[in-house]
Amino acid sequence: MSQPRERVVLVTGGADGIGRRIAQTFAAAGDAVHVCDSSASAIDALVVETPTITATVADVASASDADRVYADLAQRHDRLDVLINNAGIAGPTAAVEDVADADWDRCIAVDLSGTFYMTRRAVPMLRKSAAGVIINIASTAALFGYPLRSPYAASKWGMIGLTKTWAMELGPEGIRVNAICPGSVEGERIDAVIERDAKARGTSPEDTRNIYLRQTSMRTFISCEDIAAMALFLASADAKRVSGQAIAVDGHTEGLSNSQ
Ligand code: NAD
Repeated sequence: MSQPRERVVLVTGGADGIGRRIAQTFAAAGDAVHVCDSSASAIDALVVETPTITATVADVASASDADRVYADLAQRHDRLDVLINNAGIAGPTAAVEDVADADWDRCIAVDLSGTFYMTRRAVPMLRKSAAGVIINIASTAALFGYPLRSPYAASKWGMIGLTKTWAMELGPEGIRVNAICPGSVEGERIDAVIERDAKARGTSPEDTRNIYLRQTSMRTFISCEDIAAMALFLASADAKRVSGQAIAVDGHTEGLSNSQ
């Protein structure tokens, strides 16, 4: 059992995308970082690049996998200081009457139930921290209605409900809970979403991309670094009075209406 002075940080879905950047940012800050991710190959690539990061292959939508992650973590550390619930999938792009049961169930299972399973198991370990922090990576989809993305919007709004509820439940014990609501991150994930969205609305990917850009006052997508920087701040002592908040990092989204 190690006795680290650094924080112990767990990042779900931490092997790729935003989670990977968050994991590497905390590791670079000197924290002991453990990630869980459903992709063994992405984990392999991450630990080759950043060997100080430890990892468990796990599907957050499975309560027994969540148990396994914490069993792994407990073998290495006697506490947890920061849990970052980042694992998430985009779910289908479809009109409400066309959403398949399996697509609805899987999106809710990963994005919402996964957040619950991972947090439920984290709380006893966070209680042993001097300054426990939970950060839920939600989305601007948690702040607006999001046509054609019913399961994703439901999951992400649900994450804000959990953020505020857990901030109230755990605040008296000094555990802070916040959500970050990222705008669209430049990269393959948003390219795939735009591609599907363009098909669904019968327009070109370029036109759809411009619709997305016009949704923000700053006419911008964001980077994984933007989210990692906000996560690092929210986990820091500078944010010691910040809890129960849903903080957008998105160039100011004005709305997610797909009819613009
Ligand atoms: P990504 O697909 O690039 O990476 C997600 C990571 O999570 C991958 O490593 C994947 O293997 C892992 N993962 C997926 N399902 C999992 C599961 N069931 N259990 C464990 N790990 C799993 O995604 P991203 O763009 O980095 O998104 C990360 C989070 O940020 C998600 O919750 C997403 O909803 C949210 N978000 C992303 C954007 C965006 O534009 N990329 C915008 C707003 C919110």
